[in-house]
Amino acid sequence: MANEKIPYKIYLEESEMPKAWYNLRADMKNKPAPLLNPATHQPMKAEELAPVFCEELIKQELDNDTKFFPIPEEIRNFYKMYRPSPLVRAYCLEEKLGTPAKIYYKFEGNNTSGSHKLNSAIAQAYYAKKQGLKGVTTETGAGQWGTALSMACAYFDLDCKVYMVKVSYEQKPFRREVMRTYGASVTPSPSMDTQVGRKILAEHPGTTGSLGCAISEAVEVATSSEGYRYVLGSVLNQVLLHQSVIGLETKAALDKYGIKPDIIIGCAGGGSNLGGLIAPFMGEKLRGEADYRIVAVEPASCPSLTRGKYAYDFCDTGMVCPLAKMYTLGSGFIPAPNHAGGLRYHGMSSTLSQLYDDGLMEATSVPQTAVFEAAEYFARAEGILPAPESSHAIKVAMDEAIKCKETGEEKTIVFGLTGTGYFDMVAYEKFHDGKMDDYIPTDEEIAANFAKLPKVD
Ligand SMILES: *Cc1c(COP(=O)(O)O)cnc(C)c1O
Repeated sequence: MANEKIPYKIYLEESEMPKAWYNLRADMKNKPAPLLNPATHQPMKAEELAPVFCEELIKQELDNDTKFFPIPEEIRNFYKMYRPSPLVRAYCLEEKLGTPAKIYYKFEGNNTSGSHKLNSAIAQAYYAKKQGLKGVTTETGAGQWGTALSMACAYFDLDCKVYMVKVSYEQKPFRREVMRTYGASVTPSPSMDTQVGRKILAEHPGTTGSLGCAISEAVEVATSSEGYRYVLGSVLNQVLLHQSVIGLETKAALDKYGIKPDIIIGCAGGGSNLGGLIAPFMGEKLRGEADYRIVAVEPASCPSLTRGKYAYDFCDTGMVCPLAKMYTLGSGFIPAPNHAGGLRYHGMSSTLSQLYDDGLMEATSVPQTAVFEAAEYFARAEGILPAPESSHAIKVAMDEAIKCKETGEEKTIVFGLTGTGYFDMVAYEKFHDGKMDDYIPTDEEIAANFAKLPKVD
């Protein structure tokens, strides 16, 4: 197949779709550190997590050994409505850049929620339904997770209560209406509905909110409402597990044409799309079967891997969740209101944090205006209007392709195009009007939050 012309889009057949999710942790020698009980600092047991999370998801969360989890048929049938997603050869972008590099992107924006988040939302809704719950609560930053979850809950006839970071609630009223169309209730966070919301508002009047704060509110509502549990759209091991479908499909598509990537790039907010995209490739790397350069891209305004500390921290502002060991900016860190809402989380998946700490992947950060320049360049070349989050990966993929132009190397670059940006037109407008700022936190601002990390020995 090596000489065959690679099509613009490599699709898999339905029958070639993954039948099991791949648990990367099973192949890690250094396992991600366990979640700790915030009071006792002992590893969280399944029964302690049960009031907050769904039973089956807790099992997936705590399992560092099972390599493959079969995807239940109900979930596979839902996946078939929008998967397999295409792996696109970016011929037009390559030509516009004049690069000898071969660029591929895995496009996850091909569903109404507009992002990869649906891959885990449908799994989490399925397990909630199977447990006989009435509904679920959650937070949403930019709104993609809330949208995906409301679609998934509508499919399984579950109630869905979404706490939406206030800055996004105000910037993206249409996103909110999509969620309501699918039957979810949407509350701007911090709100006066919860104890933790009232406390945060008293301490930071006028705050535009943060994911960490919205998580605390959603957890409080779940644990105080009968028949409800809390679900999270990123960061957790279970979410990376579900998102492995992205990487498994990518690998299967590349394998069809005997293509081996040199560099794999993804944007990193909580780490779920990147963790999913790289899973089978990192697995090969861990088992010594192949080597790849793997690059996480984060916003310079919320640089958890590149400027954070690897330490146990609270997952939320209200400090109600378990402690996770991760690269973190501190749970009190509230990033400047940048336009990649989905990348504003203070921490990072504990799995990716461990892999990064072990030197198995790289991380870099990019400022906002440069990201939008790349987004616009990409849109004009490839047609797709990318989400600001995804555009972080575009920016670095383009930079790598430009380097290849300088050195004449024909590297193969694969990046994750996690979603579309139709609900981000306020951000694009700011960019076009030259009103976008590139605020980067100072060392003092970052250090101030490190001082408040929990003391765990
Ligand atoms: C949420 C989101 C991200 C970032 O989340 P991860 O968990 O880091 O993947 C990236 N892109 C889009 C389009 C998103 O919606």
